[in-house]
Amino acid sequence: MHRIHGGAALEHREASGSGDPRAAIITGSTSGIGLSIAYALAGVGCNVVLNGFGDPDEIEHIRIDIERAFKNRAKFVAADVSDPGQIGHLVEQTEDVFGQVDILVNNAGIQHVEAIETFPAEKWDAIIAVNLSAAFHATRAVIGGMKQRGWGRIINVASAHGLVASPFKSAYVASKHGMVGLTKTVALEAAEYGVTVNALCPGYVLTPLVEKQIPETAAARGISEASVVRDVILSAQPTRKFISDEEIGAVCAFLCSDAARSITGAAVPIDGGWTAQ
Ligand code: NAD
Repeated sequence: MHRIHGGAALEHREASGSGDPRAAIITGSTSGIGLSIAYALAGVGCNVVLNGFGDPDEIEHIRIDIERAFKNRAKFVAADVSDPGQIGHLVEQTEDVFGQVDILVNNAGIQHVEAIETFPAEKWDAIIAVNLSAAFHATRAVIGGMKQRGWGRIINVASAHGLVASPFKSAYVASKHGMVGLTKTVALEAAEYGVTVNALCPGYVLTPLVEKQIPETAAARGISEASVVRDVILSAQPTRKFISDEEIGAVCAFLCSDAARSITGAAVPIDGGWTAQ
C-alpha cells in the first residue's frame, strides 16, 4: 500500500531551534480518511502517530510501510478516543517519543443511521463522545504547548454534514455541526499565536464508515441499497462521484503548510459541490 503525495515539504521545527520534523497525531488513522491523512503528512515530512482500532498485524504493516516510503518515523498508539484518559495517554506517548505535538488531526468518527424516535440513546452518546468530545479533549491537551511555541495546526475532520443536514443522522449531524463550532472558537482563541484551526467538510468517501451506512440508510428510507448509492449518496454531490480519501489527505497537508498560515477558523468543503446547492 503506497499513497504517495507530492505536496511541498513542511518546514521543520526551526522556530524551536531543534530542526526536527513536525510531529502529527492523526486519530482514527488505521482506516479510510485518517489513513490517507497519515500518508499525506508523512509525505510532506512529518513524523506521524497512528491511532485507531484494527488487526495489530495490519496496523504494524501500515506503520512499517509509512516509515519505508517516507523515511520518517511512524508510531502507533492504541487509544480509544471516547475515553478522555486514553486521549491524555495518546498525547503523552507522542510527547515522549517526538518531544511535542505540532499537528493534531481529530479524525476518528463513527456513524449510525436511524429515525430519531428509535435512535438508541447509547449510539447518541457514543457518536458525540468519538466525533465531538474527543476533539475537545485532544485540543485542550495540546493547544497550550502550540501557543507557547508559536506554531501549531489543528485539523478537525468534520463533514458536509457539519454544514447541512440529512434525515436519520441526528447524532452525526449534531456532532459535526458542533465540530465546526469548536473549530471556529478555538481558531479565535489561538489566532495570535501562530496556531491555525480548521475543519474539513468532505462529502461522501467510500470508506468502511460509508459502506456500513448503506444498509442502514436502505432500512431507514425503505429503499434498496443500490438506490441509496444512486439516489441518496451520489445524487447529493453534483459531480455524481465519490470523493477519494487521497483528496482529503492532500487538502489536510496543504492546511498544515506555512502557505496556509492565514487560513484559520474555516470549514472547507471537499464535497463535489454538495453544499453549493
Ligand atoms: P473509517 O470507518 O474508515 O475510519 C474510522 C477510523 O476511526 C478507524 O481508524 C477507526 O478505528 C477509528 N475509530 C473509531 N472509533 C474510535 C475510537 N473510539 N477511538 C479511536 N479510533 C476510533 O471512516 P472514515 O470514513 O475514514 O471516517 C473518518 C472521519 O471522516 C470521520 O470523522 C467521519 O465522520 C469523517 N467523514 C467521513 C466521510 C465519508 O464519506 N467516509 C465524509 C465526511 C466525513
